[in-house]
This record gives sequence, C-alpha cells and structure tokens, in this order.
Amino acid sequence: MAKAKQEFKTEVKQLLDLVIHSLYSDKEIFLRELVSNASDAIDKLKFLSLTDKKLKDFDVKEKIFINFDEKDNSISVIDTGIGMDEDDLNDHLGTIAKSGTKGFLSQLTGDQKKDSNLIGQFGVGFYSTFMVASEVHVITKKAGNDKAYKWVSNADGTYEITEITKESNGTVVYMRLKDDAKEFCNKSRLETIIEKYSNHVPFQIFLNYMDETTEELSEEDKKANKEAKVTKTPKSELINSAKALWTIPKKDLKKSDYNEFYKNISHGEDEALSYVHTKAEGAIEYTTLFFIPKKAPFDLYRVDYQSGLKLYVNRVFITDDDKELLPSYLRFVKGVIDCADLPLNVSREILQQNKILANIKQASVKKILGQIKKVTKNKEEYNEFIKEFNRPLKEGLYQDYANRDALLELVRFKSTKVENGYQSLAEYKEAMGSEQKSIYYIVGDNEATLRHSPLLESFKAKDIEVLILDDELDDMIITSIDKYKDIEIKSVNRTDTSKDLDSKEDEKINKEAEGIVKKIKDALGDDVKDVRASSRLSDSPSCIVVDQDDPTLQMQNMMKAMGQAMPGDGTVKPILEINPTHDIITKLDKAEDKTTIEDVSRLLLEQAMIYEGMKLKDVHSFNARLNRVLKGFLA
Ligand code: ADP
Repeated sequence: MAKAKQEFKTEVKQLLDLVIHSLYSDKEIFLRELVSNASDAIDKLKFLSLTDKKLKDFDVKEKIFINFDEKDNSISVIDTGIGMDEDDLNDHLGTIAKSGTKGFLSQLTGDQKKDSNLIGQFGVGFYSTFMVASEVHVITKKAGNDKAYKWVSNADGTYEITEITKESNGTVVYMRLKDDAKEFCNKSRLETIIEKYSNHVPFQIFLNYMDETTEELSEEDKKANKEAKVTKTPKSELINSAKALWTIPKKDLKKSDYNEFYKNISHGEDEALSYVHTKAEGAIEYTTLFFIPKKAPFDLYRVDYQSGLKLYVNRVFITDDDKELLPSYLRFVKGVIDCADLPLNVSREILQQNKILANIKQASVKKILGQIKKVTKNKEEYNEFIKEFNRPLKEGLYQDYANRDALLELVRFKSTKVENGYQSLAEYKEAMGSEQKSIYYIVGDNEATLRHSPLLESFKAKDIEVLILDDELDDMIITSIDKYKDIEIKSVNRTDTSKDLDSKEDEKINKEAEGIVKKIKDALGDDVKDVRASSRLSDSPSCIVVDQDDPTLQMQNMMKAMGQAMPGDGTVKPILEINPTHDIITKLDKAEDKTTIEDVSRLLLEQAMIYEGMKLKDVHSFNARLNRVLKGFLA
C-alpha cells in the first residue's frame, strides 16, 4: 500500500489546535481517555464474540497494558480489543464522528476558562494524546481481519496510514512524549493516574516497565522483539481493581469511588450532583447506577444528542445508544443498567419491545425522580440543578403522564414573589391566602416585561402571587396540566381571571363604563374581539387578554412556528381591557374630536400589544398616530 499523507478534516484541526493550546491544566486525562477507548474496544469484541457468527468463540483477552519507556520517553496503551481497519482509522481518527462537534466548536469563545469547561463537557477523546505527545502511532488490527495498519501523526494537520504486519488483534497507541510532558513517564505518576480514573474499568490494567532488576530476554525472544527494540523482559504490575463498580455492593463503596467512576464515564472533572445505586432482586434481577450531573451538556437539545447511559447484560456491554432505556426527558442522566435476564443477541427493535426492559425502565424513572426529590432538600443546590434541568423536567410533564405528580413536585417557576430564583407549586400553595381559589401564572417571552405587565397590577394590589412563565415551552405544558392537587392553574392572560378576582366589582365597573367602552369599540372596529372595562388595572390605562378558550399569544407563536393552523380564520383577536379610572380614559370619555378619539383608542391597544410582546401590524400608522398626539400635546 502506498503511503499517502492525508489531511485531517477542518473540525479535527480546530479541535487539535484547541486541545494543544488551551487545555494544559489537565493533561493527565489523556490516559483516562485512552484507557476508556481500550476498554470500549474490548467490550465491543466481547459482545461480538458472543453474538457475531464470524467472531463466535473468539478468544478475547480482557487485558489492557500500559508500557512506559524512560529511555525512549514514550508511553503506549495496548489493548486486545476489536481493533480498526483502514476505513475505521480514517473515519474515527481523521474526522469527528459526532455531528454536534461543529456546533460545539462554534460555541468556543477563546476565553480559556470558559472553553475548558465546555471541553470538559464534550470530552476530547483520542485527540487528548496530543496534549502530551509530539508524535502518535496507532498500530491496529481488526479482529477477524488479516491486514493491520499503522496510523501516524505529529499533529501538524496531517496523518499517514501504512499497512504493516501485526500478530494479534487490538490496538497499540504509542506516544512519543513532548519535553514538557516527561513527568508522565514515571511509574508512580502513572499508577496514581490510573487509580484515580480507571480503577473500576472492568478489565485488568497492567503497567509494564523496565527497571534494574529486569531480566535479559532469551535469544528467541530477542529475535521476536527485534523490531520493537525490546531487549529485556518488562516488569508487569496489575494496578487496578478491575471490577465493574456497579457490581460491588454499595456498602463496600465510598463516595469517592462513585465520583471517580462518574468522572470516567462523563469524561469530565465535575463530580455528580447525586447518584443512586440499586440492586433489584425479585422476579427480575438487575443493577442500576444512575448519576445526576451538575451541568447540562452543550448538546442536550440537539436531535443527535447521545445520552450517557449504558446497557450491560451480565457485565457485557450491549449499547450506549438506545434512546429507549429511559424516557427522553431524562436524557441527562448518566450511568449503567445491567441485567442478567436480557438476551445478548438482540436487535434494538427487540430491545424496545422487551418486557423486562420496560419494567426496568419504569422502576428506574421512579428511582431517578425520587433521587432528584432528595436533592430538593438543599435549596441552593436544587436551584443550580433547576437552572440546568428545569426544561427537561417540564418536557416530562408533557410526556410522562404516569409520573406527573412526582414531576409537579420537581419543576420550578419564576414568580412575582421571588426576585432571583424559583418557586415550587407546593410553596405557592402553602403561601396562598384562604380567599384565593386558583394558582395564577402569566406567559410571555421576556421575564422583565412580564414582571411589569399591566395584567399583574391587581394581583400585586391584592398581594396574590403570580408565576412567571417565560420559556417558550411553558404555555403548552401548563395548559396540559390544568390542576395541581385539585387547585386550578389559570393564566392571567385570559379574560376569566379578571372576573375571578372580583366579579361583582367587574360587573359594576362595566355598567358605569358603558359609554367609553362603546366609544373605543367603535374606534377599533374589527381589530379587537371585544372591549371591556376591568378592575384588574391600577397604574396602566389598558391591557390585552385573550378570550377564555382562545390560545394565548405564546401558544399562537408556537403553533405558527410548528406550522399548525390557527383556529377560525387564522387570527386570534385580543380583547382590550381598559381602566375606567385612569386619567387617559376619563379624558378620552370627554373628548369629541374624531381623530383624537381614534388615535388614542388605537394607541391604548397598541401599547398593550407591545407589552405582551406582540408585533404591530402597521408600524407606519402607529408612528403617524403617535406623532399626531405628540404634536397636539406640544401645541
Ligand atoms: P469516543 O471514544 O468518544 O468515540 P475518541 O476520539 O476517543 O472518541 O475515539 C474515536 C473513535 O475511534 C472511537 O469511537 C472508536 O471507534 C475508535 N477508537 C479509538 N480508540 C480505539 C481503540 N483502542 N480500539 C478500537 N477503536 C478505537
């Protein structure tokens, strides 16, 4: 095979540049990444040896070796796993398979601190080798294939693949260390790193090295090792416990064991916010270990987001790409499900219909929600969690009817009674006065505007708390809930809530204001569904609401965005509510000039629309009106 220099794809170049230049604080993670790849490679081969005809009964050696050579200033990570063929090398080490990577790279700011946080979430994988190595060789042979290959790069933007001979399947990642990374070529340093990150990798990890007592090789071995320039028998020491963490009884594990394991599976530095480890014994036996992260990954809302949950059958890794293991709203949970009672050789479709898995899923959701509930006890910690994960929990309210009650205790809302932070429905209920019949909320797309909305004036006056819903999903979700513990949840953006507050007062006001209401109604004509006097306003002259059964503005925007037809003729007209005691309204009542009446009426509607985040249909006439009024005012 001819040697050919190949260029890395642009995003790999970008990533390499980043890894080399901005990630120097945690160089040691390169070993964690390589051991994790080696372990995955053995996992894959183990699975195929049980399920694939071609590799059936293949003798899988479940060991990982780490060689270091002080003279050569090099470290190699060696596995006996699945290996790679030429296409794999090009696809996996020349490009970045995850399509989210481009988006990730575009989020980088150049600010080192922020960026390394992002990188932590992303995981740098194989490319982290270039933090410590000036030259990397990947010598690999795919199990079941005859051909072997060597991939070489020195991070100059190119790599080269040549065909070589290699006896056994698996991969050697050889790294010639940079001068400033020599520290890693040291037995105790390597031991410490492996213990820290890879103690519970389920395969034995041996450290191979030379020391003074190392024996000379026999002549025969010398010949065999000539190419590798090995002249002595390396010392070999087992350095990890090689036990899958989740199979160890809870009582024998420390918090630090869980945390190290979590860092390993999340490829990050953060500890988990919380974890729950359960061994279920009964009709189905299985173990689950779930971690709730502190931070949401950057790609949580992307369609190609991969959750960090792995399915094992009796410690044999099956998949980490099954969207069905947990409901999608819990996709931020990381961890392991290991069940001995599942068949090994199953397709994804069969897994999805599997009754055992369905049972495990159901129990797992309960466990995880229960664990999140425990976190709520620490308000500060929970606030941090909510900042990251309120939205997926809200998705759950919409998706998971069976667990709605549990989820209602977990979601949080901004509120007129809380400046910074969140309110739970339970707290809202607790603080409700005995007079108050419903839970109230206001929807819109901007928190600051909502906090000053005229719609809230009477609620403020009566000291009634209103939840502030400014997330685009909110309206759809809250209208699907309807009630919390038999208490109706109502939008202040609708007509009925005004009557709710004081219906007698409302009736009286409307009677008295008949004249001015008619005047405005005539001026606005078809542009509004109705005009009413309302008791809900105190400082503002007007506001708009929607009729009880009409979709709110937020909902209308959402429906439009989703390409759904609007009810009726496609436009939902607002209802204008006026404050009959306001100066503008009382003066308008006395006004006689037709243009003035029309201008002021329209401006009352338009300012209320702006408050609700609505776009004015005709900005030109709005400006003309405003200017006429200003001119009159200055005259
Ligand atoms: P990740 O492990 O997150 O997928 P990496 O950059 O670490 O990202 O690796 C990219 C891909 O290269 C892996 O998904 C795997 O397919 C392949 N790979 C890396 N190391 C090995 C190895 N030791 N054996 C077999 N395949 C490997």
